Amino acid sequence: MKCIRHATAILALCVTAVGTAALAGQGDRLLVAADILPVHSLVASVAGDGAEVELLRDSRQDPHGHAIRPSEMARLISADLVVYVGAALEPELAARLSDEPERALPLTDVPGTRLRVSEGGAVDPHAWLAPGNARRWTEAIAAALSRKAPDAAREFARNAEAAQAAIREAEAEADRVLEPVRGLRLATGHDFLGYYAESFGLTIADTLAPADDAPPSLLAAARVAAEVRAGRIDCLVVEPGGTARLPAPLRTLPTARIVEVDVVGVTLDPGPSLYPRLLRDIAGRLRRCAPH
Ligand SMILES: [Zn+2]
Repeated sequence: MKCIRHATAILALCVTAVGTAALAGQGDRLLVAADILPVHSLVASVAGDGAEVELLRDSRQDPHGHAIRPSEMARLISADLVVYVGAALEPELAARLSDEPERALPLTDVPGTRLRVSEGGAVDPHAWLAPGNARRWTEAIAAALSRKAPDAAREFARNAEAAQAAIREAEAEADRVLEPVRGLRLATGHDFLGYYAESFGLTIADTLAPADDAPPSLLAAARVAAEVRAGRIDCLVVEPGGTARLPAPLRTLPTARIVEVDVVGVTLDPGPSLYPRLLRDIAGRLRRCAPH
């Protein structure tokens, strides 16, 4: 039935999408797609047994404007609800869902979401890294799921409360772990850690690239390398595998000055507990920046 609403989509994709849903035996069960693992985790924790939640993206990486692949399109078409970070991270997804507001929940549009503007003046899309946003979003997710499955509304609201409690617990623990990191001056690869830093009182003194994941300039790399050598920056924080891809001026820095931090949970098991674990995992990795 959903193919009718997507008259412009290629017919083959419609057939695939309907086929997949039928094979999976969804029946009347609500089917929800989430763009990245932290969002998938929040949706799964609120949905409980009340919905099937799947990851929209094939890749678990930070998606930053990546094109939607045919396999992802099939999931996009078959979902009753698509929960995603927002237009700043996923402009193509936002454009495709723009004429179907009842089927989309862009989280950065949820009232009460705290948005950060990055150095270049654009909205920093990494808004899931503010735990306050994640807690607020669980309520918005519960409301959106309840509109689709009103019978389960009480269950969704209860689950959202439990999810908020789990997030608060992880925040308190991360706060303790990060104690020795406060007062340090950090630099980051692309500007991906601003929300987390603001939430936990950390100082990002410099960044190699803007929040849209553009490649770092050699000029910025040379500047940050000099700042680290002069002791004005304590630690360079990059994404998983980022150490091997650093521009030349940074490759000779002492390895103790560089930590890899996974902000999308690529190294964690997917599911309801991923989001609270992500908050703790980031804290544990940043702790390595502190003198032993
Ligand atoms: Zn990013």
